[in-house]
Amino acid sequence: KNFGIKDSLASLGLKKSNAGTSTGTRWLRSTGAAIESFSPVDGKLIGTVASTDERAYEQALSTAHEAFKAWRTWPAPKRGEVVRQIGEALRQYKEPLGKLVSYEMGKSLQEGLGEVQEMIDICDFAVGLSRQLHGLTMHSERPNHRMYEQWHPIGIVGIISAFNFPVAVWSWNSMLAWVCGDVCVWKPSEKTPLCGVACQQIVAEVFEKNGVPEGVSVLVNGNYNVGQQLAKDERVPLVSATGSTRMGRAVARTVSERFGRALLELGGNNAIIVTENANLDLAIRGALFGAVGTAGQRCTTTRRLIIQDSVYEQVKERLVKAYAQLSIGNPLDPAYHVGPLIDKQAVKSYSDALKKIKGEGGTFVVPGGVLKGAAYDESGCYVKPAIAEVDPSFEIVQQETFAPILYLIRYTTLEEAIDIQNGVKQGLSSAIMTTNLHDMERFLSHEGSDCGIANVNIGTSGAEIGGAFGGEKETGGGRESGSDAWRVYMRRQTNTINFGSTLPLAQGIKFDI
Ligand code: NAD
Repeated sequence: KNFGIKDSLASLGLKKSNAGTSTGTRWLRSTGAAIESFSPVDGKLIGTVASTDERAYEQALSTAHEAFKAWRTWPAPKRGEVVRQIGEALRQYKEPLGKLVSYEMGKSLQEGLGEVQEMIDICDFAVGLSRQLHGLTMHSERPNHRMYEQWHPIGIVGIISAFNFPVAVWSWNSMLAWVCGDVCVWKPSEKTPLCGVACQQIVAEVFEKNGVPEGVSVLVNGNYNVGQQLAKDERVPLVSATGSTRMGRAVARTVSERFGRALLELGGNNAIIVTENANLDLAIRGALFGAVGTAGQRCTTTRRLIIQDSVYEQVKERLVKAYAQLSIGNPLDPAYHVGPLIDKQAVKSYSDALKKIKGEGGTFVVPGGVLKGAAYDESGCYVKPAIAEVDPSFEIVQQETFAPILYLIRYTTLEEAIDIQNGVKQGLSSAIMTTNLHDMERFLSHEGSDCGIANVNIGTSGAEIGGAFGGEKETGGGRESGSDAWRVYMRRQTNTINFGSTLPLAQGIKFDI
């Protein structure tokens, strides 16, 4: 069965061989190496995309630079109207785009459609925002003076995105940036380049209808070299980069060297604390989806389960039973819960992690392994979700292994549990499962979780676009999506106006001649 993939690719305008550089409706010629996109679902070549070469990059960036001069003069609500229409187009393309996400990245079709829904939601959010880019007014210490602050567009926003959310992360950035008056240059992951081409074509249709200048949405393609080109480029005041901590460190260094602004959304090592009085039905459900959803390849995947002594055995037993029910296979087929990892390199990291766990003294309660057999061999990327009992001090437990491996850790007091939860370098998402008000409030207090996201009685993954998304420490400190995350896409200006006829100086300074 091909689950309608051919039709989906055709309706998104994808071909076997695609140009990889675009300024909107125009696609630029490039002699850069072809990036081959193989589906982790069945190992087949979906299509190729040309990497952006020097000449195409220069042409694309100078078009974006010119476009900004025009786009910033459009009233924000008019820019919002264009984004509203992108939301409508995404509703129309939800099915084929969701399928492409599932087929190119390997997440379940439900999750692929969910990712497109997130894009639609952020469009709606951005439309409302386009009438609310509020500043503040302040009282001046000087008579007949007024002070206020306003927010201006910042310029070109570079977006570097990861493979695991191949379309949503771009939309979280670009929809907000566009209503803010910025123009965007997107470099998608080289593992999911066709998702980038498809999004660019959807946006280009809407932009053309509305007379939006060429260069407001730019697509470039390539590996980390093109990412570094964006990070170095002084024409790009803001670089929003989503991916591994290693990538974030390299991007942050390059961007800060030239005093640019970096918005970093990096790796997580997320934990759920299960207290002695937790509702275990919720705890098991939350941990299960958090650990195996997207085959453990979400930045918010539950990697550690920190369980109170008195319920430890019970939680372990129930999880082992739940894992036995998991079916692993083609993510486009609703019969399966878990799809493949992104590629063979990811399978190797998973297998290496299993070895390390054993080497450091961990015990497997659900053993992992690479799946073999007719349904799996074409791709070679299907693995078994595993559960291991570990000590939090293991080196491997401190790292983010981007695969479905769940660690069980025992604790006695809540203080100890919070110390374990915070005792890693990453600080993205966290949760507590409890019915005890004191434990809940302690976990959410200044002495509690040190993460950007802290949940009660829901798991670590599945954030809504209304909140600010991101994390602390090695997760990079950036915030995207809802709340006031829009501010990073603008520059703040403080204005003081004198409506009197004298010139009093601040701080009471006298300068009489
Ligand atoms: P990755 O770091 O390998 O690649 C991410 C992107 O960065 C790609 O587009 C890649 O080409 C580019 N890149 C890599 N090295 C670069 C460099 N030195 N300079 C400039 N660009 C560079 O990550 P991945 O394997 O695609 O994604 C998985 C990682 O992303 C995980 O660590 C996951 O936790 C993280 N992630 C974080 C969030 C978040 O919001 N915090 C969301 C999704 C994924």
